[in-house]
Amino acid sequence: MSLPTDFIEKYEQLLGAEAPAFFESFQEPAVAGFRTNPLKENQQSFEEKIENMPWSYYGKVSGKSAAHVTGLVYSQEPAAQIVGQAASPKPGMKVLDLAAAPGGKSTHLLSYLENTGLLVSNEISKKRSKILVENIERFGARNVLVTNESAERLARVFAGYFDMIVLDAPCSGEGMFRKDPAAMEYWSKDYPSECAVVQREILQSAMEMLAPNGQLIYSTCTWAPEENEDIVHWLMENYDVELLDIPKINGMVAGIDLPQTARMYPHQFKGEGQFVAKFRYRGEARPSKKKKGNTSNLNREQVQLWQDFAKANLSFQAEGILQAFGDELYLLPHDLPDISKLKIARNGLHLGTFKKKRFEPSFALGLALRSEEVKQRVEISNEDFIRYAAGQTVAVSSDLPNGWYQVAVAGNGLGFAKIVSGTLKNAFPKGLRFS
Ligand code: SAM
Repeated sequence: MSLPTDFIEKYEQLLGAEAPAFFESFQEPAVAGFRTNPLKENQQSFEEKIENMPWSYYGKVSGKSAAHVTGLVYSQEPAAQIVGQAASPKPGMKVLDLAAAPGGKSTHLLSYLENTGLLVSNEISKKRSKILVENIERFGARNVLVTNESAERLARVFAGYFDMIVLDAPCSGEGMFRKDPAAMEYWSKDYPSECAVVQREILQSAMEMLAPNGQLIYSTCTWAPEENEDIVHWLMENYDVELLDIPKINGMVAGIDLPQTARMYPHQFKGEGQFVAKFRYRGEARPSKKKKGNTSNLNREQVQLWQDFAKANLSFQAEGILQAFGDELYLLPHDLPDISKLKIARNGLHLGTFKKKRFEPSFALGLALRSEEVKQRVEISNEDFIRYAAGQTVAVSSDLPNGWYQVAVAGNGLGFAKIVSGTLKNAFPKGLRFS
């Protein structure tokens, strides 16, 4: 891999004696990793555990495997996993992931929240917000609102609201050079300073949304001090924040002259490049505009159709506000301010679709529920899973009564489907099928 000359000069200066080992590491392949998902009912152990990180493994998991398709694993390189671990939100917290797609940090945060509290997972790009929704749904969490907004517009609704905000900022991406050499094409000597302008803008809005004592986790996948330590200094000069210590594990090192912050270099930490800082907001409560909350908008027929379906098929307490968007029914988490002015990509948990005189459960609901929360579940073999994911029907025991079933493979839900006379009809979403 040949690195830009300006990049080499910059890091020769910055790293001194460490520089040769750092440059040498670019000749090695990128490190792959993944996390397992503690929200899934049937856990599995994999081979190469990463020490000091609760759900982390080295290696790759196929996107066509049952473990991936049921959301038991999420692929994420090890250094990026340090961000969620540094955040470690406590159950019950209200958390915002401000630049969330494709969802690596959000899914990690959800692992800590254990389906309590709330995660607002935001992505400014509409196209990327769709991928984010797909990944959040596969993960099977219930307490998530996915928005497609700018930080500035979010701040108008969520002033002083969050206990924790994660900003995994858009950055110059130096730490991704090894994984994605195309990132080098965008890079120039001035690029980090240009990115820093955007980072400060987003942070201004982030700060408006923190509750007193709230925590801010700021991360980038670059080594450029302009986007890392300089941003930390700027925050400390302009806001009432204190830096919190990030434990240095597995070869992480302290940021430049900021011992509480953390850097990951590939010649020291087995992973790609990352910087993380954590702050506590010591300032006053922000005046939040007390607006009305959100209410259910279902008509009487829709309420009836949902209740009939739920009574017959579910043993699950739908905690939240039932809201229909067209024919789609969602369960919006409680305690949110009025979000009617925001662009929403996923209005909470997608429960299903109203069809003429009936209700059909969503794939997302069947990914989220556990076996004790459904009345009927059918477990299919891995061979049948391969057929099912390709869009085929699956033969099941003819003793099974007709009706809706949660489909499961290796003990984890894979949507709902109907059994009719010993055949499991295919309800695997067309856009996700593969063979
Ligand atoms: N946190 C994600 C994860 O772990 O999967 C990766 C986020 S990526 C480093 C940065 C994200 O910031 C991108 O998805 C990008 O679309 C978004 N972004 C770009 N410009 C932005 C802006 N001005 N405000 C907010 N987000 C922005």
